[in-house]
Amino acid sequence: DNAIETRDLTKVYAGKHGRKVALDGISLAVPRGSFFALLGPNGAGKSTFINILAGLVTKSSGQARIWGRDIDVDHRAAKAAIGIVPQELNLDPFFTPRELLDVQAGLYGVPKAERRTEEILQAVGLADKADSYARTLSGGMRRRLLVAKAMVHTPPVLVLDEPTAGVDIELRQSLWAYVKQLNAGGVTVVLTTHYLEEAEELCDRIAIINQGKLVACDSKQALLARL
Ligand code: ADP
Ligand code: ADP
Repeated sequence: DNAIETRDLTKVYAGKHGRKVALDGISLAVPRGSFFALLGPNGAGKSTFINILAGLVTKSSGQARIWGRDIDVDHRAAKAAIGIVPQELNLDPFFTPRELLDVQAGLYGVPKAERRTEEILQAVGLADKADSYARTLSGGMRRRLLVAKAMVHTPPVLVLDEPTAGVDIELRQSLWAYVKQLNAGGVTVVLTTHYLEEAEELCDRIAIINQGKLVACDSKQALLARL
């Protein structure tokens, strides 16, 4: 079984300036346990793909399954199986990390006794910022807080949309250390990026999309051998 599976996933935006085909029949599979990159230039359709899985964008046609659950038929179970780290670093400025994680745990119905707020904050290196307002956190800290938030309900799949945008080199390393640790522990990780080097360094499978179409999807070794 796969962590994520899509069939002929298509999205047409009806904008002011006419129809825009953002995804054009994407069929791909993300194997369970993999560290998967969705690679493509700006405007390729990466965020649209992620946002459909997150339930934030309505697909035009096709199917998507997360951890075996169809996003239309079984949307609640599908949503429970995935944690999404959005591209934007939007956070309520007067919420603290601890409060944010508590609210998120509440939304996902994680019982108080099973909450791992301290452990998660420790793991992302924010233990000493647990009670600071989000407005005082740097870009790197915000990104790590959003990873922590995405993992509160311990989903088997973690998706990061352009995670290194606005994160400096040093913090990038600590972000990757945490994400690699999650993957080593069995979490399937999907990231979107427009940097080949990033996909090459971190991932074991790579899908390339361009102008809404799947160009390639293979193991890193097989793919790099062809470039
Ligand atoms: P409207 O509903 O006002 O006609 P659109 O349908 O064009 O506007 O856009 C809806 C939303 O999508 C808007 O919030 C807009 O900012 C955003 N949007 C529009 N075009 C693009 C684009 N090319 N890329 C990203 N976002 C867009
Ligand atoms: P990527 O994440 O790879 O940069 P996106 O999924 O954001 O790509 O965008 C794919 C295409 O769809 C782009 O041409 C973008 O301008 C367009 N697009 C994205 N969001 C909207 C929207 N809300 N309305 C209209 N067009 C959009």
